[in-house]
Amino acid sequence: MEKIKMTTPLVEMDGDEMTRILWKMIKDNLLEPYIDLKTEYYDLGLEHRNETNDQVTVDSAMATKKYKVAVKCATITPNAARMDEYDLKEMWKSPNGTIRAILDGTVFRAPIVVKGIDPCVKNWKKPITIARHAYGDVYKGSEMKIPGAGKVELVYTAEDGTQTKELVHEFDGPGIVQGMHNLNKSIESFARSCFTYALDTHQDLWFATKDTISKKYDHTFKDIFQEIYDTEFKEKFEAAGIEYFYTLIDDAVARVMKSEGGYIWACKNYDGDVMSDMVSSAFGSLAMMTSVLVSPEGYYEYEAAHGTVQRHYYKHLKGEETSTNSVATIFAWTGALRKRGELDGISELCEFADRLEKATIDTIEAGEMTKDLALITTIENPTVLNSEGFIKAIAKRL
Ligand code: NAP
Ligand code: MG
Repeated sequence: MEKIKMTTPLVEMDGDEMTRILWKMIKDNLLEPYIDLKTEYYDLGLEHRNETNDQVTVDSAMATKKYKVAVKCATITPNAARMDEYDLKEMWKSPNGTIRAILDGTVFRAPIVVKGIDPCVKNWKKPITIARHAYGDVYKGSEMKIPGAGKVELVYTAEDGTQTKELVHEFDGPGIVQGMHNLNKSIESFARSCFTYALDTHQDLWFATKDTISKKYDHTFKDIFQEIYDTEFKEKFEAAGIEYFYTLIDDAVARVMKSEGGYIWACKNYDGDVMSDMVSSAFGSLAMMTSVLVSPEGYYEYEAAHGTVQRHYYKHLKGEETSTNSVATIFAWTGALRKRGELDGISELCEFADRLEKATIDTIEAGEMTKDLALITTIENPTVLNSEGFIKAIAKRL
């Protein structure tokens, strides 16, 4: 069989620990036998980040701006324990944070839905994709404990020195106060990423805030989304037959519960923090959750939502058998290959991505899976495979 040819490289960001082991197995068994894989390789493994003073992370993000599509392996975010373990020069920042800041992107997380791994919410039939705004609000808030009676005001001092004040509260006893902010520019980028991704995946977009109560703050989110929709995306949405739907956050929550899924739910920072954990745990497993960073210009970085699965890696190092689920990492590759195929007009690449995803899902639905899924599946007597065995079982079907 002749291998599928690529014209533009994918940005390949290698990572750490167990997912680095899976990364190589996936390339060896599922990709390279069929594709003349063209990638620009960046080693984001912690050792190499440390050697390059983290320059490699910045370079990989810049390459994503150049080539538009990246695929990333999970990476260690250093903490005190990692400083010793890897003898680090500095506690390097989270690569995901660095890449997100450079691409100014929004992260979309979606579960991979398979028969036999049933969501807790029984009417959810299709994935619900959560988009979380990643800037500001309570995450960049400033707070004060108010010790006793007194007046709290918001004061804005313009560059020319003129001041505008707004009374927060006249305290007659102790209390608490919080100030928070957001930036129109950040909300605009968030909105554009959401509309772009909805068009891209052909799904409706839902957005919700509490604008009836927060008439300036939340209302600004609502207005910015509406303005960008009307001026830049309305016609494209109508042509694609998809909908932009705005409602109040409490109404959205009630509708999500009763829906069958199949849409993108854009959330403000705090709502996204809370709701993404609810949605992902209700769908079953972190190992079945994909993640893609989409920039407002339409650059894409695909990855698994889980981490480097450190506990399994230490077993692996001791020579023990592991049963680590590679599905989300496989789907990171298929997402990136499909997008590359779309951008370059290589339909064979898109078809290959479809086939690899189908082979993966068919393998699980036939009862062959890793241990994490075997523990939660409704399929009777599943066959539990080890990390490599599972990838080989997919290769056989592929
Ligand atoms: P983790 O790697 O997501 O793993 C936590 C636990 O979840 C595992 O011990 C395992 O449970 C289960 N699990 C996660 N993925 C699995 C898979 N593919 N197959 C089977 N089980 C899976 O989180 P962590 O152990 O807290 O973090 C490890 C490292 O990952 C940290 O250094 C962190 O900084 C990094 N991290 C990176 C990213 C990223 O790059 N996007 C995201 C999160 C964390 P059992 O042990 O019970 O089997
Ligand atoms: Mg959280």
